Amino acid sequence: MSDRARRPVLAGNWKMHRLRAEAADYAVALRAGLPAEPPAEVVLFPSFLSIPTLAEALAGSPVEVGGQDLHAQPEGAHTGDVSAAQLLDAGCRWVLCGHSERRRDHGETDARVIAKARAALAAGLRPIVCVGESRDERRAGQTFDVLDRQVAELPEDPALLLAYEPVWAIGTGETATPEVAADAHRFLRERLGRRLGEPYACRLRILYGGSVTPDNASELAARADIDGFLVGGASLDPRRFLAILGAFAPSGADPRGTP
Ligand code: PEP
Repeated sequence: MSDRARRPVLAGNWKMHRLRAEAADYAVALRAGLPAEPPAEVVLFPSFLSIPTLAEALAGSPVEVGGQDLHAQPEGAHTGDVSAAQLLDAGCRWVLCGHSERRRDHGETDARVIAKARAALAAGLRPIVCVGESRDERRAGQTFDVLDRQVAELPEDPALLLAYEPVWAIGTGETATPEVAADAHRFLRERLGRRLGEPYACRLRILYGGSVTPDNASELAARADIDGFLVGGASLDPRRFLAILGAFAPSGADPRGTP
């Protein structure tokens, strides 16, 4: 089927968008357009409140659901937070850790992000740990230093994934070129290979995120080091999300699958 070393993942981050009825409608449209054998694992990250609705509407389909954040503690006096067990109970299998909007809006540090990833793994969730440099850091030539610091304590676990999301590309329409994205992915894989061993680094899936659209997805997906996408804006429309999924179809295949 595919000559990729690692099975790609297409993740859709809805951020603070969509109500429950809209989530249910979305699931109907997504299921109608989904190929029988999707060329990637597909995961959606709705708001906490829409998780049960979406998980129920997607039950029996290959699409899974995740939380946009979790608390590192299993339970306790943490008003407004959600635990790993609560995410699992609501139907999640995945969780985002350290999205740059969480780092910016909630002051999440590298240490807290890693603690969240560890809590997710301990509970049986699959964390996608988000890393990436700001525009100022890139201009100052600090990209690799920032990435190095963000993954310095990354736990070694086959259930963990990374997402390289340059902050300057998120929600801006300014996608990283395939060369820039692939360079960062190669750096992360090499760095983790040195610390955690080549076999682990070779299996680790690293997604790219930052203004991915149906127009630029194929060029990015063609890069061997890019193992999928974390998509914000374009994931809000099921037709655009499905078009991005088609970028992972083996060349020549009908992305909708054979009827
Ligand atoms: C994101 O939310 O992680 C993201 C990459 O957003 P966008 O695709 O809108 O840039």
